[in-house]
Formats: sequence, C-alpha cells, structure tokens
Amino acid sequence: MSLQNPSFIPGPTNLPEGLRKACDMPTIDHRSPLFGEILRPARSGVRRVLKSQRAEVFIFPSTGTGGWEAALSNTLKAGDTVLAARNGMFSHRWIDMCRRHGLNVEVVETPWGQGIPAYRFEEILTADTQHRIRAVLATHNETATGVRSDIHAVRRAMNAAGHPAMLFVDGVSSIGSMDFRFDEWGVDIAVTGSQKGFMLPAGLAILGVSPKAMSATKGGETLPRTFFDFRDMQRAYGQDAYPYTPCVGLINGLNLSCRMLLDEGLDNVFARHARIASGVRAATGAWGLPLCAASPDLMSDTVSTIRTPEGFDATELVRHAAQTYGVAFGVGLGELAGKVFRIGHLGSLTEVMMLSGIATMEMCMADFGLNITLGSGVAAAQDFYRKHPATIAREVA
Ligand SMILES: *Cc1c(COP(=O)(O)O)cnc(C)c1O
Repeated sequence: MSLQNPSFIPGPTNLPEGLRKACDMPTIDHRSPLFGEILRPARSGVRRVLKSQRAEVFIFPSTGTGGWEAALSNTLKAGDTVLAARNGMFSHRWIDMCRRHGLNVEVVETPWGQGIPAYRFEEILTADTQHRIRAVLATHNETATGVRSDIHAVRRAMNAAGHPAMLFVDGVSSIGSMDFRFDEWGVDIAVTGSQKGFMLPAGLAILGVSPKAMSATKGGETLPRTFFDFRDMQRAYGQDAYPYTPCVGLINGLNLSCRMLLDEGLDNVFARHARIASGVRAATGAWGLPLCAASPDLMSDTVSTIRTPEGFDATELVRHAAQTYGVAFGVGLGELAGKVFRIGHLGSLTEVMMLSGIATMEMCMADFGLNITLGSGVAAAQDFYRKHPATIAREVA
C-alpha cells in the first residue's frame, strides 16, 4: 500500500491535512475550562450536521459499533422486541448484537441489494396492537451493498401505523456525506463514528438522542451499562467534562470537521458526494458491470458495490490493487464475499482523486483478463464530471 495514494475503502476515509493537525494536540487537562471550549462547539456542530434542534449529542471513545451498543443498552431491557430489516452485513451485525443482549428481534429478511421495505414495517407495526415493539432499527446506508434506504419512508410507515416505537438509525456511512434529517424524520437515536463522513481517524462513537429516547433511559430496568451510560455522560456534560478521560485530540478534530462541513455547506457536501458517485456509476456502466443496488433510487452516494462476472473472485482484484498499485478498495462482505468489490467515495474526496481510483481498478481488471477497455470507465466519468462541474469553488484547507 502506498501512503501517497488516496484510499477507496468505505471508511476510514481519507484524512484532510487540517484534521490530522487538529487531532495532533499537546496534552491538556480535560478537567480545565479549556476542554469545554473544545467539547461545546463539537457537540453543537454535530447537532447542526444532524439537522437537529432537539438532539442530545453524545461522543464516546469508541466506534460506530459501540454507538449501537450505547443506543440499545440505554433504552431497552432484556426481552424487549425490536423490528429490523436484514439487507446486508451491517444490518445483520446490528441484529446479532440485539440478540446477544437478549432482545427479541423481529427480522424482515430482505434481499441484499434492496432497501428497507417500509410497507412491511407498516404492516407489522399495524398488527402489533399491543405495542410490544419498542424500537425500529434502520440502517440508512448499507455499506456492504451500497444501498441507501429511505428513512423518511420508515418514519411515515411508523406514523401511518400509529405506533409509538422509537426509531433508531445507523447513519455511520451516511451522516456528514448524504442528507440526514434527525428532526424532520423523527429519529430517536442516530449513530455514527468519527472515521466516515467526519473524515477523522476511528475512535469516536457519535450519537444524537431525542428527548423521547432520553426518557427511555429512566426506566431503571434497562440493560446493564456503565461506560456507555447516557445519564453519567449528560451529568458530566453539564460541567463541560467527561465521566472518564476523553479523546481530546479527536474531539478537537471533530470540532474542526463540523466547521469544515458547515463552511462547505451541507447541501454542497451532499452534492459533491452525489456528483462523485455518479461518475463512478458512469464508469461501472461503461465496464458493463452491474451494481448490487437493485435500482437507481437505492444507489448510495458514499459507496458503490460492484458485481464481477460469475466464476471470478472479486477479492483477488482488491488484493491485486493493493499489492501491485498500492491502492485500497473494499472487499465483498458476508454473502457477497468474492462476488463484488466496493469503491468507497465518501469523506474527503474530489473528482480528480476519484478518477485515479477508477483508472487503477481498470488496470486491475485488465490484468486479470476481464473484458474491459482501458480508459472506458475513466472516459465515462470524465464526461460526467465535465458536464456537471461543481458550482461552488472548493478551497483546500
Ligand atoms: C462502518 C460501519 C459500521 C461499523 O462502525 P465501526 O466504527 O467500524 O464500529 C456500522 N454500520 C455501518 C453502516 C457502517 O458503515
């Protein structure tokens, strides 16, 4: 792997130089007022990125997976029922976590490549007249399949059923890269990590929690937790502090990351991701390789999962790209292992960087004798980028 090359894995993403520097801090006393100067704007920045006025923002030293565990353990108790669709490896892992915590998961099995079937949720919630289902779990962007689901449609389904369940959303590979509306979609807990849309190293679980989900923490019967306790954290935040030692450098990075996203303008950030992703899709179309996502409305703007011809081991392409050209792509996960490769296009990325990734993948496919004309995908992406230039000039921080 060459450290000069951009990376095309769907997280961790490329690190902007400014954020690397912001994370590299001398030691400060996390009990001094200086820490509050870092923590407060980081939390309010996250709230703005979530498009929320009402979310309580929590930042744990952890990753997205820890964020899931915090969401479940603070609000649910063993034996509670939750509703989830399994349409890829990440929704699968969330369901698995629920079961390990003794939750009862009503799983809607969904073909990988499809989005969350909101109409099925509506049927199940309508039939649940006893309101046994405490929470609906929705993976906004399935990073394994490159499928973006419609969270607003899930909320509408819940409302149509008149069901009081909470809505928990895994936004790990969408928040900060694709439109996310915590308040408008009636989200109760949103989970993400520092290493995807926020363009930072891994190390922070970042959550937005609604007043309704906060009140669920007060039952007294919720699952055991100490490190991830929302109430301890909320109490400490009241004094600009932590119940333990915070990752000061990463939180300083998060503060700057939010500023960068908000300065670029969230709409411009989302448009940039959509534009870069469209170039990738133009390239895969020129290669004649289908995406895993079943229809255009489901295609993710942060990761493309690309099927290779039957009988070909797609993992070999990823290994070859790393060994021969020093460039990282994503492998297929779970039932897609060997059948797909993934191009991550989220975080700190430009069209020019993306063209290098498309060109590299073409070389790899040609090296393996796949029926690819060198330059065909690059030309298709170039064509798209020339016709759809960014309207806002981007400053290099
Ligand atoms: C990356 C990712 C996760 C896991 O996050 P970690 O930070 O690796 O724990 C969960 N869900 C989705 C959708 C992801 O993309």
